[in-house]
Amino acid sequence: MKIEINNNNLFKEKAYISGQWVDANDGSTIEVTNPANQEIIGHVPNCGLEETNAAIDAAAEAQKKWRQCPAKEKSSILRSFYDLICVHQEDLARIITYEQGKSMTEATGEITYSASFIEWFAEEAKRIYGDVIPGHLHDRRTIVIKQPIGVVACITPWNFPSAMLARKIGPALATGCSLVCKPAKQTPFSALALAYLAEQAGLPKGLLNVLTGNAQTIGKAMTDSNLVRKLTFTGSTETGKMLLKECAKTVKKVSMELGGLAPFIVFEDANIEAAIAGAIAAKYRNTGQTCVCANRIYVHQDIYDEFCEGFTKAAAKIQTGEGLDPTTDQGPLIDEAALAKVEEHINDAQNQGGLILLGGRRHKLGGLFFEPTVIKDANDAMLIAHEETFGPVAPLFSFATEEEVIARANDTPFGLASYFYTTDLAKSWRVSEQLEYGMVGLNTGIVSTEMAPFGGIKESGMGREGSKYGVEDYLEIKYISIAGIDR
Ligand code: ADP
Repeated sequence: MKIEINNNNLFKEKAYISGQWVDANDGSTIEVTNPANQEIIGHVPNCGLEETNAAIDAAAEAQKKWRQCPAKEKSSILRSFYDLICVHQEDLARIITYEQGKSMTEATGEITYSASFIEWFAEEAKRIYGDVIPGHLHDRRTIVIKQPIGVVACITPWNFPSAMLARKIGPALATGCSLVCKPAKQTPFSALALAYLAEQAGLPKGLLNVLTGNAQTIGKAMTDSNLVRKLTFTGSTETGKMLLKECAKTVKKVSMELGGLAPFIVFEDANIEAAIAGAIAAKYRNTGQTCVCANRIYVHQDIYDEFCEGFTKAAAKIQTGEGLDPTTDQGPLIDEAALAKVEEHINDAQNQGGLILLGGRRHKLGGLFFEPTVIKDANDAMLIAHEETFGPVAPLFSFATEEEVIARANDTPFGLASYFYTTDLAKSWRVSEQLEYGMVGLNTGIVSTEMAPFGGIKESGMGREGSKYGVEDYLEIKYISIAGIDR
């Protein structure tokens, strides 16, 4: 084993099906590497159709009992699960850093964030209320009840290997659903560690299954199955659209958390220092690999030069290195394709008049490391104005009027996160209302919390994760029309 953690039980090189830690039926495996040095950190089973169907069957069987389980019992198991995640925070964070590359500070923050979803939904499990509707006829009354959808298939990405899964596991289990999960091939160990802790927390067998292996085969088995009644996906818009189409065959409920192209607007009346700090956080978090990362930074022309200077100075302080090194702020990118995309965006920007104020090249550490980069004089013709970069590149655009910048910010098929800085109250309302995004950060560069509804509009997806709205995605509404209640 190439990774160093305190409790080796958290590191599982098996799939988890029906409460059993298993290999692929044919014994085949896939390698998992550390993006900081390309060393192999372990292997996981290469599961396929048969294993996926076995997991779906187990989930369907286990859900029959779980849906009947009193809310308080479900809540209590989730609460124990939360406690265990907190106890093992450091090991879980190290697993993220080994397989994903982010700094230990960010990885530790991710585990706090993961745990917060389990805690939140442990509490929400007790608050799944229905309605009583006045009768529409003399003898009638109508009751609305909410029931779990059933087996939920869950496909998650590599950028937040623990949190993206925790925020699906929490509401699914809280509402009485069961899960069949497929983490990204780059980062399966965080998901398997969560499954191990859920098992330790007393979660009945079969409710939470984790399959590692071929995405297409497992994905197709999930979307083809009649037993799977919902698919929840976090990942690229391209894969999301394909899965949506596949889910149409059996009319599954879907939640999609897809790509973004977040605008970050700094008005002339903003607190510039705060705006710079917010933009740095929104841009470079996770080496720019989050779907809510600021992709386009628009700064009012009157403060453009001042902002460019201050932002570049702040970005220059970011320490790039291996995530396990405590001095590191920014880890490597996930793979070579990610570096190629970053380079493509930078070359294109330079060819179209962009001026590199900082970085612009692969980092001297080599491998998958890239320098934090700042580009001045960005314009709307550049690729970076239209495509998610998913890397540490900040293009700075200038603008003249509120109307113009809102039109430019909204000129995209995406609608996930947006940010703006102003000290003007009226503008705060106007701009918040006009931004066509599911989330708006007003004078902040970080919007994520388990207590608010995370999600996008337009091609950024559908459904919400976290908050009281997050449970609704896992529930069916049923009404019971009661007749014969004559006075
Ligand atoms: P990224 O490009 O960031 O890896 P993807 O959308 O490809 O984004 O990946 C997100 C998740 O979707 C991962 O778990 C990945 O394995 C999975 N995935 C990719 N392609 C498919 C597919 N055809 N069917 C099911 N899952 C898929």
